[in-house]
Amino acid sequence: MSDPIRLGIFGWPVAHSKSPQMHEAAARALGVDLRYERFGVAPPGLQESVRQQHEAAIDGYNLTVPHKEAIMTLVDEVTPAAQAIGAVNTVVRTDGRYVGHNTDAPGLVRSLEEAGVRLAEARVVVLGAGGAARAAVVGLSRAGAADVTVLSRRPEQSEALCNSLAKQIDCNLEAAPLSEASWYFETATLLVQATSATLESNAGAADFAAALPIDALPAEAAVLDMVYEPLKTSVLARAEQRGLAIVDGLGMLLHQGAIAFEMWTGFEPPLDVMRSALKG
Ligand code: NDP
Repeated sequence: MSDPIRLGIFGWPVAHSKSPQMHEAAARALGVDLRYERFGVAPPGLQESVRQQHEAAIDGYNLTVPHKEAIMTLVDEVTPAAQAIGAVNTVVRTDGRYVGHNTDAPGLVRSLEEAGVRLAEARVVVLGAGGAARAAVVGLSRAGAADVTVLSRRPEQSEALCNSLAKQIDCNLEAAPLSEASWYFETATLLVQATSATLESNAGAADFAAALPIDALPAEAAVLDMVYEPLKTSVLARAEQRGLAIVDGLGMLLHQGAIAFEMWTGFEPPLDVMRSALKG
């Protein structure tokens, strides 16, 4: 009998992660022997913990907050896309070498495609300018968006994001203050909410949504919120009231995991099983 596929997730904290249940459910459904552990490691301990796992020939792993940037110097290679995004969320052992990938960006793209949102020539507005926004800019520009505008409450944050990506992105990329959202919303075909403002733990989530000029969006625009707790965020609820197409953040979480699962195991991921495991 061959050894089980050994995987895990490094994070701090990591107890809340739904990745173990998602990957283990997928493996059970396919009859694959797979173990997926949680490695709760604070930043000062990451290097040593990763070294130990590499020495033990772990097959692959995920990274979550706050390790997605720090891991980049601890693996043997980082893909060009993950380098452009500046973050690695998935590491795969390939021919004995540990290669860092970013599956958040293609996960976002797949979740939009699954929802029937047209990305070719899309005019996208991204809210927020943190790591998730950066993955969105890279993923959506590679998927054929015509324009991507990044809006942030601190204008210098979206400017820095766009300046650092300008040479690696083909579409028109623009940074603007969140206070000027109306102007950009009027011509958008897709709004991507990539701030943490709509998390249910944030007391200001309703005020954040109320202040957005959702009424300025065209009737055919779609709205995605990356936050998945709650599934229907304050921004999605407002967009739905307006009759716009809405996409929740669970699809992105599912597809980033499904892409990783396929790279680790070589099996086609059972999406329905994985989706149910995330909801459970
Ligand atoms: P970061 O902390 O890197 O960035 C958060 C961004 O949100 C910053 O630009 C921050 O601005 C902005 N922000 C926070 N609160 C407000 C507010 N009230 N008004 C305006 N802007 C605000 O986080 P990430 O980019 O890593 O993640 C963002 C969210 O995306 C997370 O909450 C996470 O849940 C979700 N996510 C979902 C994924 C999925 O698979 N569905 C994958 C990755 C992330 P400032 O710096 O000024 O505070």
